[in-house]
Amino acid sequence: MITEYITMTENEIDRDGIRRAGEILRNGGLVAFPTETVYGLGGDALNPESSMKIYAAKGRPSDNPLIVHICRMEDLHRIVREVPEAARKLARVFWPGPMTMIFNKSELVPKETTGGLDTVAVRFPSNKIAHALIEAEGGFVAAPSANRSGRPSPTMALYCREDLDGRVDMIIDGGSVGIGLESSIIDLTDEKPTILRPGYITKEMFERALEEEVDVDHTIIDPTSHLVPKAPGMKYRHYAPKGDLTIVEGPQEKVVDYINEQLELARAAGEKTGVIGTEETAPLYHADSVKNVGRRGDEEEVARDLFRVLREFDDEGCTKLYSESFESEGLGMAIMNRLKKAAGQQIVHLD
Ligand code: AMP
Ligand code: MG
Repeated sequence: MITEYITMTENEIDRDGIRRAGEILRNGGLVAFPTETVYGLGGDALNPESSMKIYAAKGRPSDNPLIVHICRMEDLHRIVREVPEAARKLARVFWPGPMTMIFNKSELVPKETTGGLDTVAVRFPSNKIAHALIEAEGGFVAAPSANRSGRPSPTMALYCREDLDGRVDMIIDGGSVGIGLESSIIDLTDEKPTILRPGYITKEMFERALEEEVDVDHTIIDPTSHLVPKAPGMKYRHYAPKGDLTIVEGPQEKVVDYINEQLELARAAGEKTGVIGTEETAPLYHADSVKNVGRRGDEEEVARDLFRVLREFDDEGCTKLYSESFESEGLGMAIMNRLKKAAGQQIVHLD
């Protein structure tokens, strides 16, 4: 398959290109496109064959359900059995935006899209290119992140190309994404709202909007738990760089010293080394490749840079990687969730 590339910005939508992209989706093809979180790999959510194609293109296990993207509130009722009051509240505050809600699904949604589940994940993205594409498709676009399974989610069209060239019909280049981490997922099908995947919308933000307490899925708080995560995708080791990554937690000076010692050993053993540091510490590291993900307090910047940095280490052929640790409150919960997955939960605690 030859992949077609088109470029546009949110302020200057290529209407003709979007029309063609919509046609590809309606005919059962696949289009990668920008959203405000990460790039998505889109197919017709109501066509079982499209969903199967998405799994094949990503190399993703087909028990890992897809998120259905909509562009009009009134379309929600067609794909879910009921809209709980809590969902209405959250939609008013956070849609369009980086929030996915889990509902009981209607007959219209094929099991291929939901990985065999009776529930469906729905998101209403705010990116204008995404919005135009969903509208051109007819309203329901299934779209997981546009990476090959196990690779970091793409934050630029270039990374979609690396992973999916020749596997999808079209890639829409809409520049770098704004957020850089996948949407927050919240389950509203149980008594108590539960966060299944932390993201830009934090626990605190959900609680403020709902005026009630929100749970966090046990497996996010304790990744070594033997319970099965409620979001099937969370059980996979995602976002993995090719190099072996370790997170080092503790007082800043000790972390820098420890990482530098380890780097020396690694280099002596012939490893190519990389470090994820911050504005404050990056100049202090002696690695082959040092990444500065921004000021320590600026979590939005850390979130935006994280997946790009993990991919750059791969491109540079780094084999031994270290990262500083970040706060695990607020947006930090999402950052640490992705970072720990990338590290296969390898963490060193210093005190
Ligand atoms: P991605 O599409 O790569 O952003 O990943 C989608 C995430 O949503 C995965 O972790 C899925 O397991 C999760 N998900 C999708 N549908 C459901 C559902 N019906 N119930 C629980 N989790 C879901
Ligand atoms: Mg993904």
